[in-house]
Amino acid sequence: MSYVDEIIASVEAKNADQPEFLQAVKEVLESLRPIVDANEEKYRYESLLERLVEPDRILIFRVPWVDDQGKIQVNRGFRVQFNNAIGPYKGGLRFRDNVNLGVIKFLGFEQIFKNSLTGLPIGGGKGGSDFDPKGKSDREVMAFCKSFMTELYKYIGKDVDVPAGDIGVGAREIGYLYGQYKRITNLYEGVLTGKGLDYGGSLVRTQATGYGLLYLTEEMLKCNGIELAGKTVAISGAGNVAIYACEKAQQLGANVVTLSDSTGWVYDPEGIDLAAVKEIKEVKRARLAEYTNYRPNAEYHTEGNVWSVKVDIALPCATQNELNEEDAKTLVANGVIAVAEGANMPTTFEATKVLQGAGVLFAPGKAANAGGVATSALEMSQNSERLSWSFEEVDEKLKGIMVNIFHKLDDAAKRYGHEGDYVVGANIAGFEKVANAFIAQGC
Ligand code: NDP
Repeated sequence: MSYVDEIIASVEAKNADQPEFLQAVKEVLESLRPIVDANEEKYRYESLLERLVEPDRILIFRVPWVDDQGKIQVNRGFRVQFNNAIGPYKGGLRFRDNVNLGVIKFLGFEQIFKNSLTGLPIGGGKGGSDFDPKGKSDREVMAFCKSFMTELYKYIGKDVDVPAGDIGVGAREIGYLYGQYKRITNLYEGVLTGKGLDYGGSLVRTQATGYGLLYLTEEMLKCNGIELAGKTVAISGAGNVAIYACEKAQQLGANVVTLSDSTGWVYDPEGIDLAAVKEIKEVKRARLAEYTNYRPNAEYHTEGNVWSVKVDIALPCATQNELNEEDAKTLVANGVIAVAEGANMPTTFEATKVLQGAGVLFAPGKAANAGGVATSALEMSQNSERLSWSFEEVDEKLKGIMVNIFHKLDDAAKRYGHEGDYVVGANIAGFEKVANAFIAQGC
């Protein structure tokens, strides 16, 4: 049995109840075959893959808090510190009812390679809770965040582990979490990223994942002789990533015609009215169903999804496994040119194969959405320097990082004889640096 197959079998046996983690490990290891096969003896001797698939540590804790009725509620908190071979653990916190250990492990595992791809000194981690801020009052969200941090603070620090936002964790949640960290430790340090601009946040962090997605997509298209301007784009989600992906796509001259949330999706052939979406999602924290109040000619659907619309480019920006094999076939039949993942693992394994098999340019999330964590690392640098850089300066650095990431994965794919396969390229390019660091640091 090959080394890769052996490790996949052992991960399956040990983590049978964690489908998302298994999916992520399989996807990564399958695409690492060229480099693992070429170095099999050395990697086996080092037990490199065994070490890679096992987190450094997993923290699971009780989060009790008092709701607006005075009743005590209990949620489960997680932090998976996966790998710090190339820098302190870094990765977001997700607050959503479907969060469990398998989901956090999949995200933490992916984060290792994504962070490596940025070229910045950050390791991989992820955390969160099955608490969902949706429908909760600000006071309840604050009570939960304070309690969550009362346990988490013991395990994090600016040179140890630096969490950030993810689904359900935006500026409001980061503010409450940071306030509690500071109160308990009496330290004013860059222990969280995505902070408000008044207390150590970085300009462009809010926009970074969405903007970065478009910078990488534009570069991928350019290197394949295609222009982004004038293209029709479908985006899923209506959160942080989706909104700023839409903004940058529009700035670059593309026509974005869809967005979605967990209750439905909109199709606006004349182009999404982003001011309306920001008011609905960022100010009112309401449902996307309200969009047609602003744009009566747009369609709102609760059945089906955005992938049924005929577009040139598809940018899944909501959540994992939201674009399946059938969706991929529909996109291909409709002539899609490129798919770039704003979310983490939004495209199923089978769907990815359909897209790549049809010659669609496919940029995996660990490369395409790395702009968020890259800008978080820039926030860490500014915090350490006690300086704030201008919007233009950070945006310029972000763009440079995303363009560089694309070339790294393009080169790695070519070096291992898989030209144009950006999944193989991203995994190999991310893996190489971590593998070298692991080996250099010994057992
Ligand atoms: P947000 O919470 O801001 O937005 C998530 C959006 O996706 C919301 O519109 C939400 O709908 C929708 N959504 C969430 N879960 C589901 C679901 N099960 N089915 C359908 N729609 C769903 O999160 P982000 O925009 O920050 O994150 C989106 C994705 O991008 C995630 O995969 C995240 O891991 C990834 N990512 C985020 C980064 C960041 O910097 N924020 C960095 C890198 C990756 P509703 O409003 O109904 O909840």
